[in-house]
Parts: sequence; C-alpha cells; structure tokens
Amino acid sequence: MKKDAHPEYHPQAAIRCACGNTVTAGSTVAEISVEICSHCHPFYTGKQKLLDTARRVDRYKKMMEKKQSMQKPRGGK
Ligand SMILES: [Zn+2]
Repeated sequence: MKKDAHPEYHPQAAIRCACGNTVTAGSTVAEISVEICSHCHPFYTGKQKLLDTARRVDRYKKMMEKKQSMQKPRGGK
C-alpha cells in the first residue's frame, strides 16, 4: 500500500455561510466559506431575496409600469 496517498481528512470541517450559519461536515479542507446555504436560500426559506445589485429588476418593473400606463385608453379628442 502506498503511504500518504490520501489527503488529510477533517471529519469536523466547518462550512461557514455568509448568513452566519455554520454547518459541520467531513472534508479534506478544514474550513469552507460559502455564499448561500440551505438556511438562507430562497428555495428553503420561501422568501424572495434577490441580490439586485445592478437594480435591473427595478428597471424592468418601471419599464413595465410605463408600458401599461401608455396602453390605457385615451379619453376623448
Ligand atoms: Zn446561509
């Protein structure tokens, strides 16, 4: 058998999420940082949490509002 063929195993590796939640799992890395976990993902929380940094969703909503107001029937001539 070859020696040192396997990487070091950490049975209590800490997986830290940006939301503050920490999950313990086995890994070859002692610490892992993640941006999203089952604790804060919208799929599990049922809440909509958009990271709308470029405000694209906002712009789209405004555009649709404008379009709808333009489609309203004009009263009289
Ligand atoms: Zn999280």
